[in-house]
Amino acid sequence: TTAQDQVQQLCLTVQDFPRPGISFRDLTPVFSDGPAFRAVIDDLVKPFTGTFDLVAGIEARGFLLAAAVAYATGTGVLAVRKPGKLPRPVLSESYSLEYGEAKLEIHQDDVAPGTRVLVLDDVLATGGTLAAATALFEACGAQVVGCAVVLELTELQGRLKVQQYPVHTVVAS
Ligand code: 5GP
Repeated sequence: TTAQDQVQQLCLTVQDFPRPGISFRDLTPVFSDGPAFRAVIDDLVKPFTGTFDLVAGIEARGFLLAAAVAYATGTGVLAVRKPGKLPRPVLSESYSLEYGEAKLEIHQDDVAPGTRVLVLDDVLATGGTLAAATALFEACGAQVVGCAVVLELTELQGRLKVQQYPVHTVVAS
């Protein structure tokens, strides 16, 4: 079975989480299944093999993906954090979520200019999160080579917010 099949079979939909009216896709069972997780990691990175020096994961589920990709490819890994977690001076980017306002941060000096960065997250919904993360790397003078997510919720058209980059999704639904 392909990564697509495994995601479709294992992903759960939870109504009214974290707010009434939101239909939340829960990928926990995909991550906790060994063969499914490995297939997802291999599929995520495939279009970008050899094109990046650093893989960035967005807090928190993106961390799991990015660490696995970094180990598999021998690149460095960077955590894109929620506010207040990093000890040194940060670059900060605010954005609006499907359900609220949010901010992402990295250290000002974590990424050298010219670094080729692949940005990962579990789900692409409205696109604000990936757009904010890519803006942080652009602000460092890094080169964002693309974005990859496990699941894209196509009806929200989040892809439009990161249309200047190649965006790879394991499953679009
Ligand atoms: P966006 O900024 O694209 O609207 O939302 C994407 C961010 O919110 C990602 O970090 C993702 O983890 C989280 N998110 C939004 N909707 C969902 C969902 O239905 N399921 C999961 N697992 N995460 C979601």
